[in-house]
Amino acid sequence: MERELTEYFGEYTFNEATMKKYLSAEVYAALKRTIDSGEDLSPEDAEAVAAAMKTWAIERGATHFTHWFQPMTGVTAEKHDSFISPVGDGSIIMEFSGKELIKGESDASSFPSGGLRATFEARGYTAWDCTSPAFLRKSDSGVTLCIPTAFCSYTGEALDKKTPLLRSMEAISKQAVRVLHLFGKNDVKHVDVCVGAEQEYFLIDRSKYLQRDDLIYSGRTLFGAMPPKGQEMDDHYFGAIKERISAFMSELDVELWKLGILAKTEHNEAAPAQHELAPIYSTVNIETDHNQLVMETMKKIAARHGLTCLLHEKPFAGVNGSGKHNNWSLVTDTGENLMKPGKNPHENLQFLLITAAVIRAVDEHAELLRMAASCPGNDQRLGASEAPPAIVSIFLGAQLEDIYAQFAANGRAISSKKRENLSMGVNSIPSIKKDVTDRNRTSTFAFTGNKFELRMVGSSMSIADPNTVLNTIVADALCDMADELEKSTDFENDVCALISRTINEHKRVVFAGDGYANEWKTEAAKRGLPNKESFVDAIEALKFDNTVRVFEKHKVLSRTELESRAEINYEIYAKTINIEARTMAEMASRKFLPATIRYIRRLGEAINEVNQAVGSEYSATEAEILKECSQHLADANAAYKKLVAEIGIAAGISDTCEKAMYFRKTVVKTMEALRKPIDQLELIVDDRLWPVPTYGELIFEV
Ligand code: ADP
Ligand code: MG
Repeated sequence: MERELTEYFGEYTFNEATMKKYLSAEVYAALKRTIDSGEDLSPEDAEAVAAAMKTWAIERGATHFTHWFQPMTGVTAEKHDSFISPVGDGSIIMEFSGKELIKGESDASSFPSGGLRATFEARGYTAWDCTSPAFLRKSDSGVTLCIPTAFCSYTGEALDKKTPLLRSMEAISKQAVRVLHLFGKNDVKHVDVCVGAEQEYFLIDRSKYLQRDDLIYSGRTLFGAMPPKGQEMDDHYFGAIKERISAFMSELDVELWKLGILAKTEHNEAAPAQHELAPIYSTVNIETDHNQLVMETMKKIAARHGLTCLLHEKPFAGVNGSGKHNNWSLVTDTGENLMKPGKNPHENLQFLLITAAVIRAVDEHAELLRMAASCPGNDQRLGASEAPPAIVSIFLGAQLEDIYAQFAANGRAISSKKRENLSMGVNSIPSIKKDVTDRNRTSTFAFTGNKFELRMVGSSMSIADPNTVLNTIVADALCDMADELEKSTDFENDVCALISRTINEHKRVVFAGDGYANEWKTEAAKRGLPNKESFVDAIEALKFDNTVRVFEKHKVLSRTELESRAEINYEIYAKTINIEARTMAEMASRKFLPATIRYIRRLGEAINEVNQAVGSEYSATEAEILKECSQHLADANAAYKKLVAEIGIAAGISDTCEKAMYFRKTVVKTMEALRKPIDQLELIVDDRLWPVPTYGELIFEV
């Protein structure tokens, strides 16, 4: 019999309801205090929580537990231990102690540390993040209890993406509370960062995926000519979902619901074979964990349906890439969303001040934000026609823009634009109220009614970095504002003056036009807005004085931790491009060049036969095709040889930044030079000889 959703929702998580059932009232209360306000959990209480967690997990078939963490690779890692413990007579008992719950030790030397840890100091610790619920992972190999953890070095430096995120949440909460107290909201003790991450992805047929080394090794196609049809008919976007895909989506939803993940909407995206999943938002650290689980579950379920889920930002050139829309807001422990403008936004000084802090933060740290929303794959997407440009700008919408313009000009605002009725011209359809502003899909950072939406994030990325940056830079702006206003003797006037001054200083970052248009690049340059075209170029923002100052001030990351992150990013970039370049070289030499030679040989044979049978005046067309193939073959071979030589040169560069730059400036160009003739050949060579499935087969035949 089918079970009701309400019955199985969250059944794989050790959530509050389960805790209540499995813990004594006292232990539950103690744990709740730790979760809500970070109080220390006593060893006895930890012991009791561990025992309860173990009972709960074992009842559901678990044999192992793991500290689940998020190293700086951006994916998750885990080390499995079984619950078994020998009792001496050859039998075992199932054991899991408070110590094992709270702290794990893991040989950290195989994770990137960016020089934070010498190999002789390989100790790394994982520490339980009790604010994110433990969960069960079921697979063919059994059931594992997964405990979300933070990961740090022997000396306490963050080796993961979770630790700084948690630190940044504390920082922004502290500063936002200061500001709210100034507005008389003295009952607010805590402010949460809420995030909903919309996830885009592609699904393709697994058997075809397995025929392409580029997809297997780099997650994207490195060759491929455009099929006759792309996405120009807009018939996939929000289109009816194919049966095979909807079977995938239904199973995905159920699996995510069991994990307590609020998967809400599923629809087709713009490109053929592209789809999107949106959850209902949660606190940012939980959403970060959930988004990792969403990505992991997508891959797992896809395989069950004979599909492969591609999370790469740009799996196919020429059609849309995938991103992750990071919806961000601040919500108090009293339930107030600080990003909600209310009925008369021009009178809502608290909202206008806090939003002005966001504007200031984004303008001051645009390069850092761009950096945090970047990964090697996103370089193929940002700045391309369908994606937000690499220029960070803010879209506020007509109503807010007008109010801030009033503040900028007069130090106050006296009116708000009102919502209008929308008439459809059909009497039987009730009239509906329009939003005060239309959406602007081309903006990198858009205000969408009660939240900001950062649209630059890549689809494969962890959302931890962009949110760590957002939280920290906004915390800093709020901190300065609180410093200033705590000294004020005429609060209302001073708030208005501060809003007005902030907007005047930072309005250059506000932009309502078409972010995809070329004119915007020129205009942005005139305004002095940075445009870091590549991820590699943006990495240095981690080392800017202003970055270090702000991150150290709010105790999110130290200079050393920031420098190590820069180092790791250069390394990740260089390694990624190295893999892509090597994959291209191998595919060219072992697949495309031989296929072309085979075709040329057939053409040669055909020409000979025609010449013998009827004379050479009849083989001119074949000869022309042969010559064309031969020219592309020569170009491809030259680029191939150049690429191989450059891969060798790169291997000899030891400085990571220099190496990354060499890949970006030199190797990437040669990769393009190799792709071009081969994509040309794909359009000429007999398709029965072409060694890999084409774009058409990959994205239209799912
Ligand atoms: P829209 O249609 O304007 O994009 P949706 O309601 O579809 O808005 O929400 C998009 C995403 O934003 C969802 O993941 C949703 O949960 C999330 N979201 C909605 N409100 C908030 C909020 N206050 N803070 C953070 N995320 C939010
Ligand atoms: Mg959206």
